[in-house]
Amino acid sequence: MESISTKNAVVHFNSEVYTELNNYIKTAKPSKIFILVDTNTHDYCLPKFQERIESGEIAIEVMEMPNGEEHKSIDICTGVWEALSEYNADRKSLLINLGGGVVTDLGGFVASTYMRGITYINVPTSLLAMVDASVGGKTGVDLGSLKNQVGVINEGVMVGVDTSFLDTLPQNEMVSGFAEMLKHGLIYDEAYWNTLTHLENLDLSDLDRLIYDSIVIKNTVVTSDSTEQGLRKILNFGHTLGHAIESYFMENADKTPLLHGEAIAVGMILETYLSTKISGLSNDSLDTITKGILKTFSKVEITKADQQHIIELLKYDKKNSHGVVKFVLLEAIGKPKLDCVVSNDLILEAFDYYAN
Ligand code: NAD
Repeated sequence: MESISTKNAVVHFNSEVYTELNNYIKTAKPSKIFILVDTNTHDYCLPKFQERIESGEIAIEVMEMPNGEEHKSIDICTGVWEALSEYNADRKSLLINLGGGVVTDLGGFVASTYMRGITYINVPTSLLAMVDASVGGKTGVDLGSLKNQVGVINEGVMVGVDTSFLDTLPQNEMVSGFAEMLKHGLIYDEAYWNTLTHLENLDLSDLDRLIYDSIVIKNTVVTSDSTEQGLRKILNFGHTLGHAIESYFMENADKTPLLHGEAIAVGMILETYLSTKISGLSNDSLDTITKGILKTFSKVEITKADQQHIIELLKYDKKNSHGVVKFVLLEAIGKPKLDCVVSNDLILEAFDYYAN
């Protein structure tokens, strides 16, 4: 598959990843190479990755963090900054983030801030990280249960997408990543949405091309607007309520935390309903989108009391301006509308629609 050029980096695929990475190491000659993994990617991905990396005389140090969104925190960053310092990382060191979106977001942030910035490369190993988190340069960590509240936008120099890493990814994580692919169809490309919702199952043989197409969509959007002044906001479809739901389920001891994509799937159905009230989406499209999402995602129980707490959390959304929550809604499949203002009553109606 052909490489994709982003604003400052290049995304390579499958065997090209190793050719290009090894070329980069030979040419850039980093003083040291650091690989950040989590518990799972240490066991499932690192051995295969290390087999194919040719670093010559350059030392490689592996840094391992615990897996899971709850570890996407400043405390873990401090641990990684300290490890870099103990291993004498300098400004010519290279950090390779080998993992899902937690590792690529946190590792990208650590690299962007250590000694005011060292070079980093993302090698995403989850579906979600491949199609979404690895491109666009958004890095950062959560602040308690508030998602991505601290971070910077700073792209790495290369992204290496080796889809064979997905062989060991648990099925629920595959489904979670699929939510972002569906979103790419809904905000940008109706034909892509139709292809995805007519797939029989999430089979890796079909996925290679679809992953590629998703990265092209995400890249087209972010390169046209790298600082999120306009078009890039469309990537937030489903995420205004989705992030609030994800945060609420994470901080509430009575709830089982949702995977990112599971929360976004709920958010997309709610925001599709809002689209019929605010941005003129047809009821037929509402029906198609709801069925398309529920084909892959199970319904999540959200009580009336939960709904109030979730609405409360909207005040932390990063798209808010002057205290007003701004939604991305749809006029049609593939046609988003920015900066929509929605009343809390309408959000409660959307929860009723979702429940029924
Ligand atoms: P994750 O990094 O927690 O990975 C999911 C799970 O899969 C983890 O337990 C991980 O250890 C495991 N795993 C990853 N690759 C594996 C493999 N090949 N084999 C076996 N297990 C593997 O979560 P995620 O879903 O990859 O990413 C979610 C994160 O990405 C969230 O924090 C979200 O905010 C962020 N995100 C960032 C952007 C962005 O633009 N920067 C976009 C979307 C999402």
